[in-house]
This record gives sequence, structure tokens and C-alpha cells, in this order.
Amino acid sequence: MINRERLWNRIMALSVIGEQESGGITRLSFTEEERAAKDLVSSYMKEAGLSVREDAVGNLIGRKEGSDPQASVVLVGSHVDSVYNGGNFDGPLGVLSGIEALQTMNEQDIQTKHPIEVIAFTDEEGARFSFGMIGSRGIAGTLTEENLKNRDKQGISIAEAMRQAGSDPTAFRNAAREKGSVKAFIELHIEQGKILENQNLSVGVVTGIAGPLWLKFTIEGEAGHAGTTPMSIRHDALAAAAQMMQVIEKESAATGSTVGTIGQLQLFPGGVNIIPGRVEFTLDLRDINETVRDQVEQKILEQAETLCAERGVKLQVEVLQRVAPAPCSELVQNAAKDASLAAGLETFTLASGAGHDGMQLTELCPMGMLFIRSKDGISHNPAEWSSLEDCADGAQVLYHTVLNLAK
Ligand SMILES: [Zn+2]
Repeated sequence: MINRERLWNRIMALSVIGEQESGGITRLSFTEEERAAKDLVSSYMKEAGLSVREDAVGNLIGRKEGSDPQASVVLVGSHVDSVYNGGNFDGPLGVLSGIEALQTMNEQDIQTKHPIEVIAFTDEEGARFSFGMIGSRGIAGTLTEENLKNRDKQGISIAEAMRQAGSDPTAFRNAAREKGSVKAFIELHIEQGKILENQNLSVGVVTGIAGPLWLKFTIEGEAGHAGTTPMSIRHDALAAAAQMMQVIEKESAATGSTVGTIGQLQLFPGGVNIIPGRVEFTLDLRDINETVRDQVEQKILEQAETLCAERGVKLQVEVLQRVAPAPCSELVQNAAKDASLAAGLETFTLASGAGHDGMQLTELCPMGMLFIRSKDGISHNPAEWSSLEDCADGAQVLYHTVLNLAK
């Protein structure tokens, strides 16, 4: 059994670093707060009997050797950076549970064939540079020099921030792992949704990570006087947009798995007494199945074209980003399901709507995740909360999963 109090005490100890008067914690990458968090985590890794190092992109790594020096490594981990005014569980739970799992193995003299590394990935959230998953991209070998030119609000680039933090940004490629050198990656994370809570379950096995497709719709109609233009001759861009939004909601809901969100909407010229001549809005469309997502996109676009033609307005659609969903591997899912049984828990599967480091690793190695229940589904918020019992259940399942993968 893992030591639940030790895990909980460490989560609470880490929660103090980067604490804000305005609520929550802010731990951005390559800052003093992040350094302090890594130093504390590093001390826990040493207590767990792990050898500790940092790679070329700042990933903090604690390693337990395996009995076979030729065997590929099993990776387990998450991140310790946060969004602005974030919560105490998003990230730290996965890192500290990974350490807890390895410390438990060491205390019980459990030797595995494969070496195991617990990782605190650099900058998963992307809060500082509007560009995230830096550590996992580094390990996957997909990070580019261009990526390191992304700048924060002060105009400091990732490369400059790395240099300020004492690492050499030109050496980032050294963090990349060779294909075949990693057996699997598993991350324990809070769900950030309400599915487990509604099921009254503490732990779930993740089937895949939904990839976001971001579209920007621009509708050009005709602005005009709100008082003198009869309804019959209007080309109201907003009326067309409103109809489109209903199509988006209907088509997203129809699949049972797709989620579609219009998060930004702007009207031009934006006067109380002016018919909107132009409307711009964004769509965030997600599914763990790319084919399903693409079909929903097609249905939305076809109907949007038709209704714009009928209304005599022009439609333009721009792709802001198209991220492929990342299915979790059968290998890791099965290891996690067996682990749930070993921990005496029901096996329940669910998809991840939020993005995670595992997405970056799909080309490198089999990847999977475990979720624990989030209170009220809240995250990226000071009110983010998971109970000691649920954290412990998650860590126990993680322990068995890692053991299944590494034995
Ligand atoms: Zn996270």
C-alpha cells in the first residue's frame, strides 16, 4: 500500500509555493516559484531513493533502476507549473503520486525489470508563453528552435527564460528520447470535469485525449439603420451567426461525444441602433475520435454555407489550430484496468476533454492516463479540490499500473 498521509502532506506542502494573495497559486515556468517547487520535489525524489537529474529542457527526473540494464524505461509523471491563480492538484498530484509509487516499491524492496522514471515536465500549462507542453515536446523530440521564440508578456522568449534559469537553450535537442527507449508513459491527473463525481467513483481509466479544432468564423452582411431598414431587405450578419450557433450546438450534441463551444463573439460596428454588418466568432470543437470530429465539422460548414447563401451574407472560415486527438494505448489502458482491480476498485473508462503532456508522447511510446474525481469538476481555480481518499486511490492504482508496466 502507498502511504496516503505522506502523499497528502507533500501535496499540501507544495501548495504553499507560489501562493497568491488574490487566491490560488501561480507557478509559471522558469521563475523562482517554479524553481522552489522543483527543489522541494527533488528533495522528495531523493527521500524516495531515486537518482535525480534535470534534462536539457528542464524536466526534473527521478530514476529507479531496473534489473535489466538493456530494458526500456517506464515513464510516470505530470507537471508542477500552474496557470495564473491555479489550484493545488492539477499537476502536483501526478508528480507526487509517481514519487509515492516508487518510494513504496523501494520500501518494500520491489525490483522491476524495467527502470522507472518519475518526471515533472517543464511548462505543461503554457500560461507564461501561450505555448505549453515544452517538457514533453522536448522528450518527444518535436520541440523546435522556432518554438523557443515564443514570448511572455514582458517580451522574454522561452530561450531567454531558459538562459536566465541557468540552462543552455541551444542544447534543447539533448532532451529527446530515442524511439524504443521508452516502454510506456502513464500520468495520474485530476479529471477537471464531473463525470467521475456523477458516477460516484474515485478513479477512472482514460481512453484518449480530445484534440481541439479551433475555427474562426467571419460573416459579412450589411450594416444599416436599425430604424429605417425593413426586416425583409436586411442582411444581418448576427442573425446568420445566431442560426449557425444553433447548428453547432445541435451537431455537436448529436454524436454524444463531441463538444462544441463558441467562446468569443464580436459584432461590428457594434452600435445599439445599427444592424450588425460583420460578426466574428470562434469555435472550439473536440472529440477523441478524429473522424467523428471531422464529420461534425463538415456538417456544420455545409449548413453554414447554405444558410449564409439564403441570407445573402458572406462566410469565411479560418482554421486557427487543428490538433489531432490522442487515443490512449491498449497496453497502458489494460495495465491501468488490471491495476484498478488490484486496488479493489471498479474499472471505469472516460475520455479527457482537456489537453495533457501525453498527447505529445504518442509518437514516442504507448501513452495512457488515470483520472481522479474533481470536486464539482472545478479546475484552473483556487477552489480546485480532490479529497485525501481520492488522491490515495489514484496513487494506489498508479502504483499497480507502473508495476504492471515495469515488472
Ligand atoms: Zn495538468
